[in-house]
Parts: sequence; structure tokens; C-alpha cells
Amino acid sequence: MRYDLLIRGGEVIDPSQNVREVRDVAVVDGRIAAVEPRIDVEARVTLDARGLLVVPGLIDLHVHVYRDHTPWGVEPDPIMAAGGVTTMLDTGSAGSSNFAGFRRDVIDRSRAEILALVNLSSIGLTSFNVGELFDRRYADPRGVVETIRRHPDAAVGVKIRASEHIIGSGRQGWDNLRDAIRAARESGTWLMVHIGHTPMSLPEIVAELQPGDCITHCFRGGPQTIFAADGRVFDEVRAAAERGIVFDVGHGMGSFRWENAEAAAEQGFEPTTISTDLHAFNIEGPVWDMPTTMAKFLYLGVPLERVIEMTTLRPARVLGRSDDLGTLKVGTPADIAVLELIEGRFTLTDSHGTTRIGRQMLRAAATVKRGRLLHGGGRFPFERQLEAAGQ
Ligand SMILES: [Zn+2]
Repeated sequence: MRYDLLIRGGEVIDPSQNVREVRDVAVVDGRIAAVEPRIDVEARVTLDARGLLVVPGLIDLHVHVYRDHTPWGVEPDPIMAAGGVTTMLDTGSAGSSNFAGFRRDVIDRSRAEILALVNLSSIGLTSFNVGELFDRRYADPRGVVETIRRHPDAAVGVKIRASEHIIGSGRQGWDNLRDAIRAARESGTWLMVHIGHTPMSLPEIVAELQPGDCITHCFRGGPQTIFAADGRVFDEVRAAAERGIVFDVGHGMGSFRWENAEAAAEQGFEPTTISTDLHAFNIEGPVWDMPTTMAKFLYLGVPLERVIEMTTLRPARVLGRSDDLGTLKVGTPADIAVLELIEGRFTLTDSHGTTRIGRQMLRAAATVKRGRLLHGGGRFPFERQLEAAGQ
């Protein structure tokens, strides 16, 4: 048998199989065909990955890709190629009123696999200047449930941005949060709560959540954080993480503060998943891409294997897709990120302009989606050029 693609000599890190060693990876018909110490079979395209890392295609659990329909939206496919991100979760760009359009115009037309959370607000994130739930009449839990029922392969959960200037204060804020929870329960899915100047405290929020629900922006600064007044991570937050509440990074333009990430690391509190919250206002810094965000956790002392786990296996589990995503198991869809780990001095900037100097940077050298080497990412030419060169 002839393989379609052979990635040769890279260091394979696949936490789903507890693998970390140099192996060849072969792909045929869009699926992983073999992962072996040495594969001596001809392939249509061969990549020399010596000195590089070969990991499952990255999963970004927080992006905004409804371009031109929301001010935040960016194009999904370039993000995939440039960042090794083969699956991404759009977190609430669309609500019940515009989800069908998002599906038709973006999800169905992209090569990247895009899954989505449905915003509790029927209008999603269509406007920058007025919070989408500031008028309670936009809250549409029934519409969310109906949207998930109609699009079960794309709409996988519920999103609320629980900031006071978005959901309102006092009773209104709570009514909105409870509507979002109700929509998640009635749809049999899960809820992602964005925190940021929330009208309720973190312990009050996590008390309402179930295992599988998610807090995003977990290292944000500002008044409502995962820390109590004494600077310690709330006991309730630790207990929530232990019972299966997901704590997601969602770096964004205002949601990653070095001091908070460092304090959490010192206290042994790790996020469940690393995500970017990539959107139009941070893609040219300070977020840039997924590999840069991952490098920030290398700086914080998280071992490389766990950083890969937090961007492959764990988000796959959050999505209930660990059987076919975030893994290089033979027979699974061939979504692969070839990453370069570079040593040097790198300025790592948080959402407040505060910097740290990291000694390691990650960069996507190549991205493979369903067995196809993608144009637009990293050091390797794309598949057609390789074929023209007779490789
Ligand atoms: Zn976001």
C-alpha cells in the first residue's frame, strides 16, 4: 500500500495514548494509518519532521469566526493553517436568530471543523456598543434549545457573557444567568460562562454549574476573579474544578493577566484547557495564535506534554469527541499539527500590556486537516508544490 502522507522522524506527543517518542506517522484516505518507530513505505508526500513535534491537531475551545456579521469575527481557515488548529469552538457569535446564517455561510464553507456555542441572546454578538443581554427581551432560552435541536452536529452548547454591562446587574443579571443554565439543561448540553465584572461572585456562579460546564477567562484581572480577597484561589473554585467544572483560559484582549496566571501556578491551580479567544481585536497581538498562547504556559512552568494535553485531549473531552478528535490513534481522522519548539528570548505580552521574557516559543511548522497538508502555515510548502517538485 502507498500512503498519501508520511511525516518522518518527528517527536510524536500524543497524550491520548501516553506517547512521547520519535515516530513516523502515515496517513491514508484522510485517516491515521500507522504510527511506528520507522515506516519504510512510499508516500505521495513526505515531510521531514526531524527536530519538530508531531501532535494531534490542536483544538481551540474559544474563538470568534462569524466574520463581517459580528465586529469580532475572523476568518477560520487561515487560523487553522497558521496555528495548527484543526478544530475550533466559536463561543456564542450567533444566537437563535442568526445561527442558521452562521452555519450556512461559515461553518459549512470552512475546511476547519467549527463547532459552536449558541448565545443566550437571540442576536448573538452582532453589536459592539450595546450588551447583547442588556435588554432582557433578547434572552431566548427556548430558541437556544430549538437551535441545538436543529443543528446537533454544529451547535454543541450554550454561551453567556456574564459581565454586568452585558447581562445587567442584580436581579436582571441572575435571571439571564439562570436562563442560560436552563437552556443548557433542557438541551442536554453544557454552558460556557464568560467571567468579567460579573454581577455575582465566582463561588456564587460555580454553585449553579454542573460537571462539564465551563468558566472561560479564568486568569482575567479585575474585580471578579478566581481569587478571594486574600489572594488565594477560592476553595469553591478548587472544589468546582475537582468535580469536573472546566476552567478555560480564553486569553482574549482583556482576559489574561500575568499576575493572576502566575499566582494560580504558584498555588498549584492549573486551567483545564488553553484557548485563545482569538478575534479581530487581538489577532495582531497580544494573542496572535494558539502556539503563542501555549508558549505562555511553558513560561509558567507547565510541562510541554501537559500543554499539548490542554490543547488536544482535554478540549476533545470537553466537546465529547475524544474518540475522534485530539488523538493520533490509528483509524481516526488525520488532523495533525507539526510544531516547532524554538529556544531564544521571546516577549510574551498579556492582555494588559504587561510582558514576560520566555525562553521557548511554539510555532506551527505544518498543519494537516483530514490528511491534507494546508497552504498558509509554517515552513513546509503546501501539498501541490510538493507534488510539482516530484516528492
Ligand atoms: Zn470570547
